[in-house]
Amino acid sequence: MRTILFFFTLTLAAQTPESLWRAARSKQPAPEAQPPQILQVSTLDALLRGLYAASYTVADLKQQGDFGVGTYEGLDGELIALDGRFYQMRANGQLTEATDKDKIPFAVLVKFKADVQFSARNVTQAQLGELIDSLIPTKNHFYAIKVHGTFRDLTTRAIAKQVLPYPPLADLIPGQSVFNYANIAGTAVGIRSPSFVAGINQVGHHFHFVSDDRKSGGHALAFTTGDVTLEIQQLRRHAIWLPDDEPFRKAVLPIQ
Ligand SMILES: [Zn+2]
Repeated sequence: MRTILFFFTLTLAAQTPESLWRAARSKQPAPEAQPPQILQVSTLDALLRGLYAASYTVADLKQQGDFGVGTYEGLDGELIALDGRFYQMRANGQLTEATDKDKIPFAVLVKFKADVQFSARNVTQAQLGELIDSLIPTKNHFYAIKVHGTFRDLTTRAIAKQVLPYPPLADLIPGQSVFNYANIAGTAVGIRSPSFVAGINQVGHHFHFVSDDRKSGGHALAFTTGDVTLEIQQLRRHAIWLPDDEPFRKAVLPIQ
């Protein structure tokens, strides 16, 4: 690795990342079959514009994916989807499971099935991103990344529910709730998107967190892991469900 700060071991000894991806590729369906899909609801720029009204329910989206990130109607906290459960981390620090009727204005979801697995220890969020970038075969595909284990320190955020007229997201960052955790076990649910989707989705890594006891979580601002396992899924099919409400129809997008 490029620095000794990185500690990582291949799950299968004596195999390189390249050979692991090659083995994963050989297990994928034939080219004519539909490859795994990443589905997103709305666009990131629409969310940044303050379009927090929601067109789709949790029940709708459970059909499309079991793993991912997003938010709830009115920007009511952070969405963490893991193992088919949709969690909501609110600005009051309470994490609950969403109901099927709850609505979602923005989300990125996959049906998670790992292609490869690695281990890492004692890496910061930035170092983990660099490590993953050194392991993936190309930066021009999407990836779903599950990081499970202990986190020595972790800082998350959640934003309080907004009322109409919705302010742009940038106006809400100064008032966001920030939560600090130490030695917490849980899962960082990550999506990595390529640079060419700027304006549509967050470019690069985007992690949300949920603790093993399902009491804590949020949008990850910073962390340092303990021992963690990384599972990575490569995705080459991208779908977008667009809202059809008045604010979305009239929104000037992308944000320049
Ligand atoms: Zn987020």
